[in-house]
Amino acid sequence: MKELIDMKNIKLAERNGNGRSVVRVGNLSVGKDFVLIAGPCGVESEEQTIETAVKVKEAGADMLRGGAFKPRTSPYAFQGLGLAGLKILAKARDITGLPVVTEVLDTRDVSWVSEYADVLQVGARNMQNFSLLKEVGKTQKPVLLKRGMHATLEEFLNCAEYILSEGNPNVMLCERGIRTFETFTRNTLDLSAVPALRMLSHLPVIVDPSHGTGKVELIEPMSLAAVTAGADGLIIEVHRNPKEALSDKEQALVPGQFAVLAKRARKVREFMGCLE
Ligand code: PEP
Ligand code: MN
Repeated sequence: MKELIDMKNIKLAERNGNGRSVVRVGNLSVGKDFVLIAGPCGVESEEQTIETAVKVKEAGADMLRGGAFKPRTSPYAFQGLGLAGLKILAKARDITGLPVVTEVLDTRDVSWVSEYADVLQVGARNMQNFSLLKEVGKTQKPVLLKRGMHATLEEFLNCAEYILSEGNPNVMLCERGIRTFETFTRNTLDLSAVPALRMLSHLPVIVDPSHGTGKVELIEPMSLAAVTAGADGLIIEVHRNPKEALSDKEQALVPGQFAVLAKRARKVREFMGCLE
């Protein structure tokens, strides 16, 4: 493995024979406790977010996801509600008790988004935004770092290193699919990255089968496969009415589908036992 990946600069993210790291989010110990993160792609309204938050909580979610800042391919597509969205997420947290995972897109927003978020998400498109990585590295907030769609594992781990080397040890890696020649799926979910990252690094590994497949039918099977591969958690998009979603409607589960997935994922995790 060492001959294939140059680990000499991956000093802080490297596994190096050590045990696995635990990232504390509220009462959760990510890396030890298996975690389910669920919620809409984007925060669209207070009712939509709170209804979804209550339902995913009932279904067994541990954290609420939802973007207030959406990185969209088109500048004319829904960009998120910004501060209003963060306030809605904070309200949903007050009601459900679920910690909030939300994306920060810009270095200028890190400090004030941190006042609302429990976990700062750095999206795939920003994985190598080194200024942003340094900025979130200067906080002590847990960071969910998503793998860039063209990134090798070596590049991915170097990005985690940027955050760690600024003094923030609370990094979680997220495999969310990479771009390949396949067009049936939105991305190709690289599940081999899960055991590979666990071997190379001590950081928790979360899998996102929603962006990883882009197709509702594939999300549960790939979630269960991810748990089997050793994922420390899953992040899943859920919408009360996918047809009306302002982003990523093709990959949104309804709360009932998420409830089934959550139950099965926990069963598979139990079957897998404690992984090293
Ligand atoms: C998201 O989580 O909604 C998102 C935009 O993900 P990614 O950065 O992986 O595309
Ligand atoms: Mn999305």
